[in-house]
Amino acid sequence: MRLSKYFVPTLKEVPNDAVVISHILMLRTGMVRMLSAGIYSFLPLGYKVMRKVSEIIREEMDAIDGQEFHLPALNPKEIWEETGRVAAFGDTMFHLKNREYVLAPTHEEIMTYHARNVVKSYKDMPQIWYQIQTKFRNESRPRSGVIRGRQFLMKDAYSFDTSWEGLDKSYELHDSAYRKIFDRCGLKYFVVGASSGAMGGTGSEEFMVKSAAGEDTVAYCESCGYAANVEVAASRIDSVERDADSKTIYEISTPNVHSIDELCEFLKIDEIQCAKSRIYIHDEKPVLILMLGNDEVNETKLEKVLGGNVRPAHPEELKDISGADAGSIGPVGFSGRIIADNRLKNANNMFSGANKNDYHIGGIDFQRDIPTVEYADFRTVKSGEGCPRCEKHLEVFPAIELGHIFKLGTKYSDSMGALFTDEKAKSTQ
Ligand SMILES: [Zn+2]
Repeated sequence: MRLSKYFVPTLKEVPNDAVVISHILMLRTGMVRMLSAGIYSFLPLGYKVMRKVSEIIREEMDAIDGQEFHLPALNPKEIWEETGRVAAFGDTMFHLKNREYVLAPTHEEIMTYHARNVVKSYKDMPQIWYQIQTKFRNESRPRSGVIRGRQFLMKDAYSFDTSWEGLDKSYELHDSAYRKIFDRCGLKYFVVGASSGAMGGTGSEEFMVKSAAGEDTVAYCESCGYAANVEVAASRIDSVERDADSKTIYEISTPNVHSIDELCEFLKIDEIQCAKSRIYIHDEKPVLILMLGNDEVNETKLEKVLGGNVRPAHPEELKDISGADAGSIGPVGFSGRIIADNRLKNANNMFSGANKNDYHIGGIDFQRDIPTVEYADFRTVKSGEGCPRCEKHLEVFPAIELGHIFKLGTKYSDSMGALFTDEKAKSTQ
């Protein structure tokens, strides 16, 4: 067709409601139009792109013997009740007014339903079933154009295997297919959660691409491919060096000093001489967390180390717990559990709060003055820090999830009773 006949309603101006670049470009080039929040119409040019990408995915899935399905988006609710996922999805799942049907946000249940009914023997496996199909998720805040919508096209694939080794094999096949798909799409992707070994024991791999519109923040090493969500990422960073001589401990009057920067300015010291205190409540007991200088506590790592219920102490609770308000709290004389970040291991000649408003303490020797202190990694990594796997450095940036592979094991076959007969002729999942 001639371009003059082609329906491509381009826009000269940047639309008011579009913020992220992909959204702006897709509107301006006439690829999509918004129908309602998170719901987009793909116009001829946009749909052409969508079909082209779908075709690449199809070819690579077919190359690993994937077989394409087309499942209904409208699902009887009772199938979803079998796995408890009506409750698990909560309001993210669209329910029809008559309550008997839901709009599928994904299709594990439906694929398992068909496997349960047809795949009866080990001879029928392995199977790789996939589809490229419309999904519905009732996002409370749909944003970033088509990146997070309420209706979207997704390719989802499911493997049915007779053993854990079989699952590993199917997982590897998907990994290689995904790499080919993203390569062919010209995406500079990286893989989060990938293990260094061949058979990937992590159970999940996330394919991501760097983008200012991304909702995840990742730490990435271009040199060796180390990639991790910043909530769990580690880095290679120096801890404080212990001075040869420990000074005696002393109290200093520090009026109006409430932050590490103010303390450094007031005492003319460097932030790496300061231990910053944060009090958390863990299962109703206070825990003092010490960080070096301005390092921030990573609460995901904190929760992992402590387990149970963890929350920051409220400002009005601090004085009762420590004797001081925020800005004057410290480890010396603190009654309760104290855990310091690894960078503070065995530090001496450190400054911290005195547990008395407007006072700090100098000359703190962690070995001598805080004998009960424990150590753990509580830091959020920053760009430029050393990669934990190689000699190069990490970059921290926002990223978009392109694809995700999981080893779901028997999660769905268990809850839905999808059994098969094995070589020894007994039923198993
Ligand atoms: Zn590296």
